[in-house]
Amino acid sequence: MLEKIGNALKSSIKKISNSLFVDKKLVDEIIKDIQRSLIEADVNVQLVFELSQKIRKLALDETIKGIEKKEQLIKLIHDEIQALLGEKKELQISGKTKILFLGLYGSGKTTSIAKLAFYYSKRGKKVAVLGLDTQRPAAMDQLEQMAEKAKVQAFIDKKEKNPLKIYKKYKKELEDFDLVLIDSAGRDGLNKDLIKEIKDIEKETKPDYRILVMPADIGQAAKTQASEFQKALSIDGVIITRMDGTAKAGGALTACAETRAPVFFIGTGERIDELETFDPSSFISRILGMGDLNALLEKVSSATTEKQQKRIEERMKEGKFTLLDLYEQLKSMNQIGSFDKLMSMIPGIGNAKIPENVLQSQEGKVKHWKNAIDSMTEEEIENPEILEKQTARIQRISKGSGTTTGEIRELLKQYKMIKSMMTSGMAEKAQEGGLSQKDMMKLARKFKGKIKI
Ligand code: GDP
Ligand code: MG
Repeated sequence: MLEKIGNALKSSIKKISNSLFVDKKLVDEIIKDIQRSLIEADVNVQLVFELSQKIRKLALDETIKGIEKKEQLIKLIHDEIQALLGEKKELQISGKTKILFLGLYGSGKTTSIAKLAFYYSKRGKKVAVLGLDTQRPAAMDQLEQMAEKAKVQAFIDKKEKNPLKIYKKYKKELEDFDLVLIDSAGRDGLNKDLIKEIKDIEKETKPDYRILVMPADIGQAAKTQASEFQKALSIDGVIITRMDGTAKAGGALTACAETRAPVFFIGTGERIDELETFDPSSFISRILGMGDLNALLEKVSSATTEKQQKRIEERMKEGKFTLLDLYEQLKSMNQIGSFDKLMSMIPGIGNAKIPENVLQSQEGKVKHWKNAIDSMTEEEIENPEILEKQTARIQRISKGSGTTTGEIRELLKQYKMIKSMMTSGMAEKAQEGGLSQKDMMKLARKFKGKIKI
């Protein structure tokens, strides 16, 4: 479900954040990836075209440069795709509420009613379902069985053919419930017959909401369907079902956004608990596989700016590398959140392909180191060597930062290791053409037993 869009976005964003500059080749590639995935997901070609134009315009805007351009591009892509998917709108259920479900045959009305009954009764509402589908012979049985699964009461009549009479029969009893979900009959298409029937039911039952149920596999056709129902019966929102079984879900969702029909829920399977509230923002974060946009933008800007990189390179050439440099790396690394990123940020080392287990992330430890560095004086940071000789200082830092002296010594060891690696010329070598087998062996011997991260 929408995985293709997710993957294309993910890879585009990765391409942007990993690239040094945004050039025409990159932009063309990204636009092509995004276009392909959106069109495969059945998103309207015109919308895709408009999005491409926006990306291109921003990308080629000469007034925005470097990191800023990358950030803005990623944000643009994120925001525009989110806008394509529409706004989040929650169904407000307070006090006594009646919801009428409508839709064509087989759209998933009855299933969705049971899912919602389950959803709201789990949230403390007293829920009833009312069967007014007198068209399909097995409709009442189906609702009855599904209500049983949801553990809510079903009001049905297997013989009565007039939906209004069924409602009248149970009207009084239904007043005891917080939430009444009303199932109605569908048709093959939105014909006069269906419109009249729904209007009559609506007049009699006076629902607080009218929700149109549509299956995701109709793709872009959801647009026509939603607007026809909107015109004839004025709907408050939609539920898109069968999101699990189609590549066209993007079409259905974007079509709803276009017609401004809020998507309250999506159905993601046949089971009673396979229902989700639809929130474009968290949805897109999820398909992008990241927590939120801010974290992402931080990643881009902290993935060492060119300036920062230059500075470290220079310090390295001068043979200088203080705890402060390490500290800066730790700081930016905290935003990125992985330990090997620290190494990859130090020029040369990233390319040296140090065995992964050596670099495995130990974020807890790094946090402690960071605290320890925070408790150091400037002199100690610039000149960590003085710490080694003065146990009292280590003890002071340990107390001040809640770190053990062992951890501080380990930090110093790390620092020394990285520093000697950088000043031994190996880093440069690695940067130029990679380390030879011999160099790697030398490194391994040199740090054997020292690397305990
Ligand atoms: P109705 O005619 O509108 O009441 O539609 P039903 O509720 O009877 O659903 C029609 C078919 O779609 C049934 O076989 C359901 O099991 C199936 N269905 C409904 N919602 C979903 C969903 O979210 N995912 C999947 N995979 N199937 C669904
Ligand atoms: Mg039904």
